[in-house]
Amino acid sequence: MAELSTGLTGTNNLTASGLAGLKDFKTTDGRAVRHCKIVGTLGPASSNEKTLRELIEAGLDIARLNFSHGTHEQHRANIDLVRRLARESGRQVSLLQDLQGPKIRTGKILGDKQEIITGKTYTLAYGIEQTVPEIIPIDHRELVHDVAVGQRVLMDDGLLSLLIERIEGSNVIVRVLEGGILKSRKGVNFPEAKLSLPALSEKDSRDLLFGISHGVDFVALSFVQRPEDVLQVKKMIQALGADIPVIAKIEKLPAIDEIDAICAVADGLMVARGDLGVEGSVERVPGFQKRIIAAAAKLAKPVIIATQMLESMIENPEPTLAELADVANGVLDGADCVMLSGEVASGKYPVECVRTMARLINEVEGWTFKRPVRYRTDFLARHDNKWEVHEAIARAACEAADELNAKAIVCLTLTGAIAMSVAKWRPHTPIIAISPRRDVVQRLVLVWGVYAMQNPLFYNTDVLLQDLPALLKSMGIVNSGDRVVITAGIPINQMKPTNMIKINRIP
Ligand code: PEP
Repeated sequence: MAELSTGLTGTNNLTASGLAGLKDFKTTDGRAVRHCKIVGTLGPASSNEKTLRELIEAGLDIARLNFSHGTHEQHRANIDLVRRLARESGRQVSLLQDLQGPKIRTGKILGDKQEIITGKTYTLAYGIEQTVPEIIPIDHRELVHDVAVGQRVLMDDGLLSLLIERIEGSNVIVRVLEGGILKSRKGVNFPEAKLSLPALSEKDSRDLLFGISHGVDFVALSFVQRPEDVLQVKKMIQALGADIPVIAKIEKLPAIDEIDAICAVADGLMVARGDLGVEGSVERVPGFQKRIIAAAAKLAKPVIIATQMLESMIENPEPTLAELADVANGVLDGADCVMLSGEVASGKYPVECVRTMARLINEVEGWTFKRPVRYRTDFLARHDNKWEVHEAIARAACEAADELNAKAIVCLTLTGAIAMSVAKWRPHTPIIAISPRRDVVQRLVLVWGVYAMQNPLFYNTDVLLQDLPALLKSMGIVNSGDRVVITAGIPINQMKPTNMIKINRIP
């Protein structure tokens, strides 16, 4: 194969351009970077240049665009702003498009609101507008076919709770367990039912097209019920000529039952605790969180913990102790990312929230990393003891880095696979991924412990390996005498998969 031409020859071909994502490689106490990443949702409180710049400075790794709100114009402006500010600040920030997903709602209620009385029976029927107060219109055609007697119906984020008593023709008769005021177009949950809803609503399809054409780095799919939902969206993304990882939001009970199969086809999972709490009752959410993280760990896929992580900071500059303990618990569980929603989108202290989270993660990782490394091994069961070469190299790199107290594991990678393989063991040593592909660099932002940078260095093995230590030194990542563990696929200009591990002492 012809040598890839970069127009660069000789030594010192690697430059620190594009490496600025590692600007903050050290925390103030001198330890290496944060391993758990921070996702923040953009909204009215954060969609301005000053705040977003501060959020990025504070440690925002992934900007979430919530397509349950906002116009395409607003999202376009946010995408442009994030990209510009990330470039200017020299940090890697990825864009996560969160699709609203198919959500069932009540129709228009007479007078736009109605008191639903505890103990009384009502009829639920397919419809867009209410005609009599006893019949509550629901905008789901398949309602009677999808539900069963004895199942719960929740309205308005679980504020109203009803029980299905009978199904008569096209009517579902419910008794009110917990009444209240019902307004028009409120969300309706059927926690125990597997609904015959498409993976994407019409709005989602339009939004997805928008996301693809604007080059978002990830798509999060809401209300996933089954593996086929994820596959359908992946197929659609592919048919539209794109290749974007799909994160399955786990927020419905049927998805918990099929978590391993969903995880197998998704590129990552999100523990969407808000809707999980509504569907499954809040007491069950911590258990679901452990189960979802375990499923992701087993298949070595990234997982995001979402919702109400620093909820009280929407109003207050300081979090509660319980919130800090909750975030710490997620970090200790090995989550790849923790997420802020309303705190950053519409709260009073968006920047303080990200700062608080970054400080806490550093603190938790700081004392965890003082103890001997305990490699995560949940995913071993899937290998049947037959490892791929790059998996063996990943494990060896972790062990060598630990034994030799190396400053970094540097993965020269085309697809990012080796960096993910290294990360899945959860080594204490930071992982630096260097790839010529911008999409790979952007995607690795989501992965625990990986700091990625783009560099067109895939041309000459010797030059590359010769230049790398000096480059790392010039960036302040390593000092003379430090060791680094390097993985690569050689000959590099033949685009070989990872087949080499090299240990360098920095001159
Ligand atoms: C959730 O329900 O916790 C969640 C993250 O989803 P959304 O914010 O879209 O409701």
